[in-house]
Amino acid sequence: MRIGSAPKLTFPIVIKTTESLRYHRRRAVEPQIKPPATISVDVDPLDIHLSGYGIARAPDNIIYDIAIPRLLDRMASAGVRATFFFVARDFRDAAAIRSARAVEAAGHEVASHSLNHGIPFRKLPRDAFAHEIRESKRRIEDATGRAVVGFRAPNWDLSEREFELLASEQYQYDASAYPSLLLCAARLLVAAGGGGISTFSKLRFLPFTWKRAPYASANGFVEFPITTYGILRFPVYHTLCYKLNGGEFQNKFDRIAASRRPLFYTMHAIDALAIGDGADARLSRHPGMERTSEQKLASIDACLLAAARAFACAPYRELLHLAKS
Ligand SMILES: [Zn+2]
Repeated sequence: MRIGSAPKLTFPIVIKTTESLRYHRRRAVEPQIKPPATISVDVDPLDIHLSGYGIARAPDNIIYDIAIPRLLDRMASAGVRATFFFVARDFRDAAAIRSARAVEAAGHEVASHSLNHGIPFRKLPRDAFAHEIRESKRRIEDATGRAVVGFRAPNWDLSEREFELLASEQYQYDASAYPSLLLCAARLLVAAGGGGISTFSKLRFLPFTWKRAPYASANGFVEFPITTYGILRFPVYHTLCYKLNGGEFQNKFDRIAASRRPLFYTMHAIDALAIGDGADARLSRHPGMERTSEQKLASIDACLLAAARAFACAPYRELLHLAKS
């Protein structure tokens, strides 16, 4: 150092006002309570994914026999309890029933993802729609011995008009709201993938709500929208993990937690499977299916651990109190 020059400061000087000292002391004494979150898993069997690409094949049990046990192991390790939306069509088979029972026994929630996963779901004739929600509820309840109170429509295709019917069948909530312009992009993918333009034109391509927080209708029926972030409202959807690098995605969790917003994060059971596990090779065009199961399970682990670090994760049925009328 030259004689006479000012000493160089190599660390930032933080001037703490009385107020900020009080704040820091309070934070040290009272640790912040984590905001709530629900991780949800749509348990679409592989033949239903394939039908989205215009390919017909017989159902198999791979989603129940391989994907669900993997997800349960990982959630147990991360300390996450979640909601699994099952398609009740398969509840005549032992594999699906065994799978749903294992999900409930591990402290998660089993909810309905319809009876047959028909698309466009909202356009079903009234009687057929009522049968889908009633019969799926009955079959799942028979399998698990526990009341089904939640619903998610195939392809997010619902509107608030259906809330009354769901409530009359003793459902307490729906989780089909997708308050993002990217819903339209998701619809186009269905059309391009094999659903065709006629299916696209029948699907509702604008969200039925732009509300971002859980809300209750006049009769107390609750809606849980998927969480979005940024001006463009990107949905916090596991499929996006395959596009962004993992760290970038998990930072979003921390930012949402820092703003004290709840997190409603969605994945599919197929996210825990790869072609190498015996999945139909024609699914190689599906997002994430170019990866090995080790890679896919590593990204699930990273997401679950990031969610558990920043949020208190619980099934939807335990968070109904979050809804504002
Ligand atoms: Zn689905």
